[in-house]
Amino acid sequence: MTVAVALFTSDLRVHDQPVLRAALGAADRVVPLFVHDEGIRRAGFASPNREAFLADCLASLDAALRDRGGRLVLRTGEPAEQVCRVVQETGAREVHVAAGVSRYALRREERLRDALSAARCALHVHDAVVTALPPGRVTPSSGDHFAVFTPYFRRWREAGVREASGAPRTVRVPRVESEALPRRADVSGVSPGVAEGGEAVARKRLTAWLRDGVEAYEDRHDDLAGDGTSRLSPYLHFGCLSPAELVHRAERKGGAGADAFVRQLAWRDFHHQVLAARPAASWSDYRDRGDRWSTGREAEAAVEAWRRGRTGYPVVDAAMRQLLHEGWMHNRGRLLVASFLTKTLYADWRTGARHFLHLLVDGDLANNQLNWQWAAGTGTDTRPNRVLNPLTQAKRFDPKGTYVRRWVPELATVEGAAVHQPWRLPERERADLDYPPPVVDLAQGRDRFLRARGA
Ligand code: FAD
Repeated sequence: MTVAVALFTSDLRVHDQPVLRAALGAADRVVPLFVHDEGIRRAGFASPNREAFLADCLASLDAALRDRGGRLVLRTGEPAEQVCRVVQETGAREVHVAAGVSRYALRREERLRDALSAARCALHVHDAVVTALPPGRVTPSSGDHFAVFTPYFRRWREAGVREASGAPRTVRVPRVESEALPRRADVSGVSPGVAEGGEAVARKRLTAWLRDGVEAYEDRHDDLAGDGTSRLSPYLHFGCLSPAELVHRAERKGGAGADAFVRQLAWRDFHHQVLAARPAASWSDYRDRGDRWSTGREAEAAVEAWRRGRTGYPVVDAAMRQLLHEGWMHNRGRLLVASFLTKTLYADWRTGARHFLHLLVDGDLANNQLNWQWAAGTGTDTRPNRVLNPLTQAKRFDPKGTYVRRWVPELATVEGAAVHQPWRLPERERADLDYPPPVVDLAQGRDRFLRARGA
């Protein structure tokens, strides 16, 4: 009997799963292994929202494997150590794993390689599992990665995404012990509206999205209240869905909405290839603009108001409260709250990125940090000094105030355009609202930022 290990990381699925498929092709028995990595918690990436979602994902993966005659094996600890233990217990000759992008994932891979070579076990690393196109597959003529999206996207399209495959029929697991799977109910501090995780839910959502949602995506993706985006990001983050499969299914659907959706999936790959080439960009400026971010008690109080959704700018507060409640925020909301923090309040983008990483179910280093840098003008935005005005944004993307009334109950009864500018209400009505005055004057905030940037 030959044994191989399929080590699951950010690819918690059985459909279009190159790691599992390769392991099944290499041996009679496969150990589908997930290591609950304690280092992630120690590195400060722990998030109750993601822990809860992960518990769902592992339960769903276990159920899918059981349907095929197998099951998931769970261990807790340092991944290389735990994998070696399983290799010794089962006599496995090979381990298969998806290629990672972040510095953390690369170090994990290095440790795994060292430990396994000492145990005379082969390590096979598979790419295009976590992203549709592997980082580095397309590069500009000068340089190791694309710093601008449009030329990247052109080459991404030309390169073509690999074909997707189905799920295996049978998975035969050797005799090996597993810890009990974590349960969502045991995780404390979870936001009340965190979506249910797992491949089964993800596939249902994807089918519904392609049937009912994607067609109108191009017109509706910026409508804050309409919620016209796929909400698939958490499932992509945990790999419950294969990005390659998504690209092909959307392309088969066709139309302007599907094209726009595929373009967003390419944005995801774009950020991964930037981070793979510049791992330090997770916490250091990709482009140093010489910023001396605001500090001090007043600045900290303004940031805290931002975190709690109490800035006095209703559309900013609505988006921040959506994040607190759901562990997810609409993309237009993310853009405008990030601009507000880094430009209008001139607070360090890392402060915002940390808060997002703590709460976002889809929070990951490539997309979160590089989008934050994009919004702060230290990243790949070709117009680094643009400042989004929350009032203009509110008028364009929440013209009736529906999004604000949904998330800021203090303003639920305010009628008309005043919902976006409650400070304009007569004094008596304002006093009844229990809603704070603006933490900053928009024009003054903008001027301070532009002066600091010398723009
Ligand atoms: P859709 O509009 O349906 O798009 C489909 C998929 O494309 C998304 O699920 C996502 O995987 C990808 N995508 C869409 N927009 C982007 C983008 N700008 N960059 C990269 N990929 C994109 N996305 C994350 O997945 N994780 C994060 O931690 C994250 N942090 C962000 C922080 C800031 C400050 C900003 C401005 C954006 C961030 N995004 C992040 C990108 C984007 O906001 C989310 O991917 C999107 O809102 C998820 O909702 P959706 O699945 O409905 O997206």
